[in-house]
Amino acid sequence: MTTDQFKIYIDRLDEGKEEKIIISPDLSFLDLAADELTFEEPIQVSGKAYISNTHLIIQLRICLVAKLPCSICNEQTRVDIDVKNFYLTEEIAKISGSVYDYREKLREAIILEVPQFVECDGNCPQREELRQYLGKKTEDSQQNESDAQFPFSTLDTHLEE
Ligand SMILES: [Zn+2]
Repeated sequence: MTTDQFKIYIDRLDEGKEEKIIISPDLSFLDLAADELTFEEPIQVSGKAYISNTHLIIQLRICLVAKLPCSICNEQTRVDIDVKNFYLTEEIAKISGSVYDYREKLREAIILEVPQFVECDGNCPQREELRQYLGKKTEDSQQNESDAQFPFSTLDTHLEE
């Protein structure tokens, strides 16, 4: 994978001229360690870069779908992430070699957008079930024991005959 797609070449940008950005980077650039957090491809990044006085300005829209476990039932859940206006500014004097690479900043922005708490369908069906299950647990196990004993009492009756 080329990393050039995240680079802005300052010397190609004249004052007042915009450079369009449309990229669909593959997931490897996110360099994710946590295996429970994944993203669906493609990640769509679009926007523009331009120079305003002494600064490079990058304005991006970031669209992607994250897949992470529901905080209640652990079911894989899709979360649409749409960052409409992500701005990056960098002083041109600080950009070495006339090349600005926004890969790391973009990566951080995406990771920050992932919610800490997700529920499948926005309202997990097990939210209620979980509460009921915890309340009925003792009652259910008693029920199971008496079911299991029933065949033996029938057998005893037959043997006596
Ligand atoms: Zn759930």
